[in-house]
Amino acid sequence: MGATAPVPPEAPRLAMPEPDARVLAGRAGIVADLRRLVGAGAVIDHPRAMRPYESDALTAHRQLPLVVVLPATTADVAAVLKYCHARRIRVVPRGAGTSLSGGALPLADGVLLGLGKFTRIREIDIANRCAVVEPGVTNLGITKAVEPHGFYYAPDPSSQIACTIGGNVAENSGGVHCLKYGLTTHNVLGAELVLMTGEIVRLGGKHLDAGGLDLLSVVIGSEGLLGVVTEVTVRLLKKPQTARAVLVGFPSSESAGDCVARIIAAGIIPAGIEMMDKDAIAAAEAFVNVGYPLDVEALLIVELDGPEAECAHLLGAVEALARDCGATTLRVSQNEEERLGFWAGRKAAFPAVGRISPDYLCMDGTIPRRQLPFVLARMRELSLRYGLRVANVFHAGDGNLHPLILYNANAPGELEAAEAFGADILRLCVAVGGVLTGEHGVGIEKRDLMPEMFNATDLAQQQRLKCAFDGESLLNPGKVFPTLHRCAEMGAMHVSGGALPFPDLPRF
Ligand SMILES: Cc1cc2nc3c(=O)[nH]c(=O)nc-3n(C[C@H](O)[C@H](O)[C@H](O)COP(=O)(O)OP(=O)(O)OC[C@H]3O[C@@H](n4cnc5c(N)ncnc54)[C@H](O)[C@@H]3O)c2cc1C
Repeated sequence: MGATAPVPPEAPRLAMPEPDARVLAGRAGIVADLRRLVGAGAVIDHPRAMRPYESDALTAHRQLPLVVVLPATTADVAAVLKYCHARRIRVVPRGAGTSLSGGALPLADGVLLGLGKFTRIREIDIANRCAVVEPGVTNLGITKAVEPHGFYYAPDPSSQIACTIGGNVAENSGGVHCLKYGLTTHNVLGAELVLMTGEIVRLGGKHLDAGGLDLLSVVIGSEGLLGVVTEVTVRLLKKPQTARAVLVGFPSSESAGDCVARIIAAGIIPAGIEMMDKDAIAAAEAFVNVGYPLDVEALLIVELDGPEAECAHLLGAVEALARDCGATTLRVSQNEEERLGFWAGRKAAFPAVGRISPDYLCMDGTIPRRQLPFVLARMRELSLRYGLRVANVFHAGDGNLHPLILYNANAPGELEAAEAFGADILRLCVAVGGVLTGEHGVGIEKRDLMPEMFNATDLAQQQRLKCAFDGESLLNPGKVFPTLHRCAEMGAMHVSGGALPFPDLPRF
């Protein structure tokens, strides 16, 4: 993510679908039609007013959309999609635009469909331990709404004050507490989805299981490629009686990694285990001043929650394991304020790192936990080879790494070097048995690395599914899949007018 420095204004270097000249030429008519459909106030077409939508948090890539549309109801979304489908106009859904993988990057010939007006909590149903919310409600907004009832929504991305539940569903987002409570997919019970044709389908519901194929789990993590989510039913959890966090400092990242593996192997599932290395600790401490130890190479934040006696027992077990692994500092939170302080540094770690480097790329790969020491050591070698520093902040308990590669976008070649370094880290994750993404999605960032993990048959099968939802590849094309297929070639029947989408792109 480019944190602060100005980003060069040239076009993204990644190959994106060639804009459709017919759509570009018809822009004025399309804007007028959309205004008629959803009201003039919901359509933005002036380049300056569209500027805030030109990128998401992967700011190295920017593109003004054809037009921005901000519908307020499911019926509006359906009308816009039906219109775009009939005219073969591409559509990119957008929540808060905090994606780190470029998932919400607009297309020059595409409608940017912002869900920012969908901010209502439709229902809080404590008896069924769920809430029905609109997709533009922020992640933290859900917890705030149900807090008075003693409940909360568990997945907690660090971006939770800004990111929306619609974006979380599209990215299958995680957070520090997902180790124990699961990712978005484990905490969403149902969704309303508008298909590219304008048809509306309901997936799942308040019940734990539904008949038929489990399309909800297909849609969660589908990165805006299958439909537009207009309502989400989330599972609520009772706030734990106690939660205590412990800060544990280590003389090396390897010993911290070893401690993580041993805690899990002992059968303990903490509410969260996060790790930061020296650079990240220094940056976070300078940002929030919560007393992180500055004389250690790696810091773990381990949180235990549950009944008080259980917490105390597990804390003792974690402390013993940590000392065995060579921990040099141990500090247990003494009250709620201190516990939240421990987390404040971790949650602010990305912006904090933004203060020690003009730019950084935030990578996101997952590895088997036991490979942590090896991967961290290998990353240090790569850092020397590329001549770029890397700060590590990550969900250690899940093996979900977030190396932050520090670079300067204004220094010639540094962005390219940072991207090559990042690609090598992700290849390394796959090589040790891990995966390309833990929670940030593929988007455009990891699109071209997909063949590192999937073979041609795997990718073709995924694209057949995409074709079943969006037969003409109009929803968020250019994301996730390295090569676009014509749906007819994939065995789908849904081709309109025999026209080949993206004739410029290679097919296999
Ligand atoms: C500082 C920072 C910290 C972060 N920390 C975390 C973290 O700890 N864990 C984590 O998982 N992520 C994290 N992220 C990444 C990001 O916040 C998540 O991916 C989040 O879910 C994106 O939500 P959004 O509302 O901003 O979606 P956007 O960025 O607007 O969109 C993301 C994707 O979702 C699609 N989309 C959005 N809304 C809809 C909808 N209603 N229907 C269909 N598709 C839709 C878009 O097309 C796009 O592909 C972080 C980002 C930042 C900047």
